[in-house]
Amino acid sequence: KRRKQPSSQELIKGILEGNRTSLSRAITLIESTNPEHAAKANEIVNGCLAHANKSVRIGITGVPGVGKSTFIEVFGKFLTALNKKVAVLAVDPSSSLSHGSILGDKTRMEELVKDENAFIRPSASGDTLGGVARKTRETIILCEAAGFDTIIIETVGVGQSETAVHSMVDFFLLLKISGAGDELQGIKRGIMEMADAIVINKADGDNIKKANLAKLEFNRALHLFPAKKSAWTPKVSTCSAITKDGISDIWKTISDYFEMTNESGFFQEKRKEQNQFWLMETINEQLKSNFYNQPEIILQLEENKKAVQNDEMSPFAAAQELLKLYFK
Ligand code: GDP
Repeated sequence: KRRKQPSSQELIKGILEGNRTSLSRAITLIESTNPEHAAKANEIVNGCLAHANKSVRIGITGVPGVGKSTFIEVFGKFLTALNKKVAVLAVDPSSSLSHGSILGDKTRMEELVKDENAFIRPSASGDTLGGVARKTRETIILCEAAGFDTIIIETVGVGQSETAVHSMVDFFLLLKISGAGDELQGIKRGIMEMADAIVINKADGDNIKKANLAKLEFNRALHLFPAKKSAWTPKVSTCSAITKDGISDIWKTISDYFEMTNESGFFQEKRKEQNQFWLMETINEQLKSNFYNQPEIILQLEENKKAVQNDEMSPFAAAQELLKLYFK
């Protein structure tokens, strides 16, 4: 016999009391594709909203192998030692597309997992980045309502996921390693522009000298970018997730940023903008998925695709016909 599922009210109560089981269950509802679960998840998110927001949200990106999970484990332990409650979430669209995640499995961050002041949740899966990102954003609200004051969102430095994460965090950290000398090669300009800090990891042993050179080079490159709306000058530093050198400096930088942007009002302004952005994103996302999931549309789309291929219909007319069918 199946056990009775807790009600939305029960889950909200549990989350506000900091109960991890309630938190995990509610996140599972957010991640579910069952429409009944979606309705329940909405109730829970709404019930938590008034208790959310009292946190700092930090995005961390970097290519696979740069040391993200090693760094986040060490950084997370550093923060819990300061009495912070740390939630680590991830945005990894690859986990649904290829059925294997770039961010890896649950064996990562073994120490942080055991820390009672930390909560680690792997990426939601979904068929689109938009879907995964929305679920992560709602999960942030639940974690904050559960008392987590420092939210870390990890993502891989491939594709569009950095932009999605940037739009849900207060501070964006780009993790790098020193390479063969030409440090700037292969980094997209947009990613550098989003960064509030660039941290060159693996600055240990024989790597220290190279890491310091990379730091100079990044500093020089950052000076060429226009001033940020936050008026913050991005900081470049080196660290080692193995020796833990430079970890406390990174927290100092992030704290300075929060102090400055709280004083200027930018912190709140950015969060308001992000809320507007996610309102529009969610509408776009749901309209699209609702449209493409209508059985009638699925059939007609196939027909019209063929008609367009055979020049029997213009793409525009084919689209109009489908939209008319949908909005009729
Ligand atoms: P991710 O793919 O970005 O999550 O990278 P991982 O955290 O899995 O790290 C990739 C490899 O780099 C692992 O073998 C780590 O032990 C190693 N690594 C991570 N941080 C450092 C560091 O600061 N110094 C050194 N020497 N190795 C590191």
